[in-house]
Amino acid sequence: MKSITATKPLEEIVDSLGKARKVALFGCGTCPAMMGTGGLEQVLEMRSNLEGKGFQVIHDEVIPVACEMLPYEAKEELVKRARAAEAALVLSCSLGVRQVCSYLESIPVLPALNTLFIGVEEEGGTFVEECRQCGDCVLARTGGICPVTRCAKSLFNGPCGGSVQGKCEVDPSIPCGWQMIYDRMKALGRLDMLMEIEPVKDWSVSWHGGPRTIKLPE
Ligand code: SF4
Ligand code: SF4
Repeated sequence: MKSITATKPLEEIVDSLGKARKVALFGCGTCPAMMGTGGLEQVLEMRSNLEGKGFQVIHDEVIPVACEMLPYEAKEELVKRARAAEAALVLSCSLGVRQVCSYLESIPVLPALNTLFIGVEEEGGTFVEECRQCGDCVLARTGGICPVTRCAKSLFNGPCGGSVQGKCEVDPSIPCGWQMIYDRMKALGRLDMLMEIEPVKDWSVSWHGGPRTIKLPE
């Protein structure tokens, strides 16, 4: 499972830096390094791009796992190394940006990447979105295939009828999610479950106007 990211246009990044001229760069050695969006190579490339635009890159490093909280000593070291920066630019998913924000409280911490989705590798190098964190999982009734994510219309009682040869009518380059669900349920001998009408989804558990939080048991 990987956080799938894409690099923002350089002009957008430069614009977000505003008046800051001294910049600290942080990459992430995990998902973005593997995706080729935020590893050492991309951090050095960003350094060169920013220097070409007149910025002074006062520090660069790749945090091994940017989305995880650093131990106290490592955090203190990071703060020390970025002390002279007027802004920090983070080449990681939004969770990594949030973590670096929590270390560097007195300067703007900006994303260099767009976080697209959480993906699972399906075949060599191709990642597919599998879950939208809707808060009320229905995989037990759909053969482990998510209708919210895999159906272009997020239908709970599919298929829509437009599928042609197993492809989606909205985008014929992608498999019809409901065809996948049907095939899986057939293989499981549970097609009867698809005859049950799925009630209207309670989206209130998906989003309620603020960040969802959960406290792990002690
Ligand atoms: S039904 Fe919701 S929680 Fe389950 S896989 Fe789909 S989006 Fe994720
Ligand atoms: S063709 Fe399949 S995936 Fe596409 S919208 Fe219809 S049911 Fe959903």
